[in-house]
Amino acid sequence: VHSVLEELLPETRGTTLTAAAAAAPRDTVWPAPARLARRVREVARQELSHEGLDPALFEATLAREAEALLEIARRCDWPEGRRALLAVEAVGEAVVEVAGAERRIGFRVDRVERLDGELLLTDYKSGRPLSTGVRATTRAKHLAAKIASGEALQLPVYLLGAGEAAARARYLFLGIDLDERTRELALVPAELGALPLPELLAALFAAWERGAFVPRLLERDGRTPFAGCAFCEVREACVQGDSAARQRQARWAAAESGDSAWERAASDWWRLRPAASGDRNEEAP
Ligand code: SF4
Repeated sequence: VHSVLEELLPETRGTTLTAAAAAAPRDTVWPAPARLARRVREVARQELSHEGLDPALFEATLAREAEALLEIARRCDWPEGRRALLAVEAVGEAVVEVAGAERRIGFRVDRVERLDGELLLTDYKSGRPLSTGVRATTRAKHLAAKIASGEALQLPVYLLGAGEAAARARYLFLGIDLDERTRELALVPAELGALPLPELLAALFAAWERGAFVPRLLERDGRTPFAGCAFCEVREACVQGDSAARQRQARWAAAESGDSAWERAASDWWRLRPAASGDRNEEAP
């Protein structure tokens, strides 16, 4: 889906966010159905071959799925069949101060445009929405919780990378059968100040620099297997299936931070994910 969407304005791929923001908008026309279907088939074939799967067996199914997601993108953002864009697949860098040192966080944003006087930075998501809440306040709360746990950093990083520009960053969820009210989740610069970004980035950079890459076998409750493991590509090579390893991690997580810098970094990273992280999507009636 991403591969097809980024072909909508191929000449802008890889442009910097700064250059995109200063460029003139380009009329971007949604492809005719036959052309789109042909291209989806080609990309599906390439992806399957790349994964070592037989295109003859899976191409039609994969293409059908991709076409359904693309149709949602068209319906949401190209209802008239054309849209003025600044760039696709733009690259940027957020320069932030973390624990007294300058840090640079590189990113890639799926689509850049100017809407109502502000930059609109869109990231397409084909998986589950981060929030199934329908009220704006609930959705904002869910997004803030995901960001605070270090799981959904793209939107704040996009906004930090946009610098002084008036901007809005959003996820567009293309999943089939979603409540239409949950398709978009957005963040604006005024909301950045309420997020614990300095502490969050300090914990993440410390863990990165110390090499404190502890597998997250369990949720913070110390019992439930980590939900993200269900989608993990390296699960077969992980100790996730080893109950003794999970028990050791539960004991370690329940203890106070260790004495070494490595263990403190691992512990700070571990505690970013809230204990009640099971389903934060609940919404009071
Ligand atoms: S299965 Fe994957 S996500 Fe789960 S702990 Fe192992 S490496 Fe991490």
